[in-house]
Amino acid sequence: LLALTLTIGLGACSTTPVRTGPDPLSRNPALLANLYVFGSAEYAVVTRTLYGDATTAVRARMEALRRNQPVRQAVHAAGDTTAFPACTPRQRQRPAVILDIDETVLLNIGYQGFALRNGGYSPATWSAWEAAGSPNARPVPGVEAFLASLIQQGVEPIFLSNRSVANAEPTKAALIEILSWTQAGYQPAERIIPGQTLLLRADDRDKTARRVQAATERCILAVVGDQLGDFSQSFDSDSTGAAVAPDARASLTERVSGQWGQAWFLLPNPGYGHWTEGLNPDRVLGSWAPPKPQP
Ligand SMILES: [Mg+2]
Repeated sequence: LLALTLTIGLGACSTTPVRTGPDPLSRNPALLANLYVFGSAEYAVVTRTLYGDATTAVRARMEALRRNQPVRQAVHAAGDTTAFPACTPRQRQRPAVILDIDETVLLNIGYQGFALRNGGYSPATWSAWEAAGSPNARPVPGVEAFLASLIQQGVEPIFLSNRSVANAEPTKAALIEILSWTQAGYQPAERIIPGQTLLLRADDRDKTARRVQAATERCILAVVGDQLGDFSQSFDSDSTGAAVAPDARASLTERVSGQWGQAWFLLPNPGYGHWTEGLNPDRVLGSWAPPKPQP
């Protein structure tokens, strides 16, 4: 991890030996957020803890299904964000878990390094990163053990992401290449199927329809993501399509407080996301000044 941090710093020098202005890394406000995610021991502890909790929760739900007890779905009923329909063994739904991809399964280290040095994110460069098969990405700490546990129990991982359907094949290749698939008998090339277990974005960034599709004939035992929109669109836009203000997002998360850490597992992403929109620094940051020194 330390080596990675050093590599980012040294890489900036070695790839651009002649500088005409200040180092873009040193002035970029997103730098610390990215170093925390990609390089800090603290981030890895958090994600391993969350994936460990998710493993425990899925095991408990599978045990309940084996005992013929109903289990609450992790995908909410259409139009009601607080109601989670039950699945029962009698319905013969296949058990599954929904995972987002970016900064949930894969850390996009190569892309973020590029973006930090070259003026930030753009749809065109991100699309090129997807199409290139995301070289120099890494698994989020803890995700591989979680996937192994799912597969060992016969729980299907569904990858639901706003990567473009046009890049389904390189995205599938990245998942196969970057993650280690250690469970005997599991062939990711045959099980990660675009349109079925790899649900990507055609044109709508709203993931609701794809979540409903994933939950059809399946019992969704857990959802893992790094953005509130990975769990419910109601955190991001209201019924008219207008953006939800930060205070309202916060109170909505409290209305479903029973989900967090039980069926919904939210990984930290200080680097980007809807959370960055609409926050007023004057309201978020407190005001204080040190006392003036006495003469
Ligand atoms: Mg994500």
